Amino acid sequence: MTKSITVLGSTGSIGVNTLDLLSRADDGAFSVVGLSAHSNVDLLAEQAVRFSAQAVAIADPSCEARLAEKLSGHAIDIYSGPDGLVELARLSADITMAAIVGSAGLEPTMAAVGQGNTLALANKECLVCAGESFMSAVERHGTTLLPVDSEHNAIFQVLDDRRPERVRRLILTASGGPFRETPMEKMQTVTRKDALDHPVWSMGAKISIDSATMMNKGLELIEAAWLFDRPSSQIDVIVHPQSIVHSLVEYVDGSVLAQMGSPDMRTPIAYALAWPDRMVTPVTSLDLAAVGQLTFSEPDLIRFPALRLAREALEAGGQAACILNAANEIAVESFLQGRIAFMDIPRICEEALGKLSADTGFGTAPADMQTVMQADRLARETANEHIVNL
Ligand code: NAD
Ligand code: MG
Repeated sequence: MTKSITVLGSTGSIGVNTLDLLSRADDGAFSVVGLSAHSNVDLLAEQAVRFSAQAVAIADPSCEARLAEKLSGHAIDIYSGPDGLVELARLSADITMAAIVGSAGLEPTMAAVGQGNTLALANKECLVCAGESFMSAVERHGTTLLPVDSEHNAIFQVLDDRRPERVRRLILTASGGPFRETPMEKMQTVTRKDALDHPVWSMGAKISIDSATMMNKGLELIEAAWLFDRPSSQIDVIVHPQSIVHSLVEYVDGSVLAQMGSPDMRTPIAYALAWPDRMVTPVTSLDLAAVGQLTFSEPDLIRFPALRLAREALEAGGQAACILNAANEIAVESFLQGRIAFMDIPRICEEALGKLSADTGFGTAPADMQTVMQADRLARETANEHIVNL
């Protein structure tokens, strides 16, 4: 039976890997409903034609005319702007791959949840900003939620969800990023290029910087708390530079189950696309003898304050995680533009958290998406003010 699919963020790293798997799948296994991008008109148009998509959405409305020109003569509907993205996400599809980066993915991903079909979730920022509203919408609509983030996908694969009380803790592995062994004094002056140069994974710019600060693991900690309904005390983080063990679950009898594999996002993406079945991928078979050693160590919360901040935000509850995420998005963007230093990223996040969390209005979980978007906006403004005054 053919599965219809929409890929939100099809021109990004996860989007391109998803389409790569679709192109290798059996004939007729998948049909593409919608594809979306922020502004990469050339790649979006090429993908839409190659996969005979029914529709495309371009988030930057100033790109619409050029996209229409490229697609003239093809029966492909075009949507544009943030509202157009939401409309595309509402088109009926068996699976939606949510792979837009940042809180820009929030509204379209929520619209996809509303379909009540299957949501393959790569965009972790959704759960970080709006965990409670997001999970209750999933429940309300009877949506099947499949995690794509490799750590969460690993846990999903080894978690016995029929007996949640028999799980003692979840253990998220972290590669440690490019600065795992860099001394503190050198971390002040690392460049954009150093930070983008991840030792194991090839990913989009934002998540690469998040991996370098370890904010990525912090966001993943919050993501895991929502996905698997666990308190902070039951989720540990361990540094594992080889990125072979993608995460682990410890049970009350002392058994620890891990999911392993070559570090290639096409494995978790394929798991979500084929679930509950599995599909063939071109991922290199794991050669443990060639890997030789698997090593593990505690994360360093002094050199990587972002991980500490994320745990504090998770434990504080309310809108702290949303504030942290928004401030981080602004700080990462500014670092990529060469406006701030690497170690300013966690500083800006900590300042925004301190400033806004003190406001009592942020102590309670957001009641609706409007409240989430408001906190997101305010945290962006606060972070921007701090950057200007640096
Ligand atoms: P990317 O930067 O490579 O791609 C992002 C996609 O979102 C692109 O298609 C882009 O056009 C679109 N986009 C960007 N800004 C937008 C906006 N304002 N409005 C609408 N669309 C916009 O990112 P990525 O590395 O593919 O990551 C996507 C998501 O998946 C992120 O949330 C990331 O944390 C998560 N994730 C990625 C990886 C990975 O290996 N790349 C692993 C785990 C989780
Ligand atoms: Mg991950």
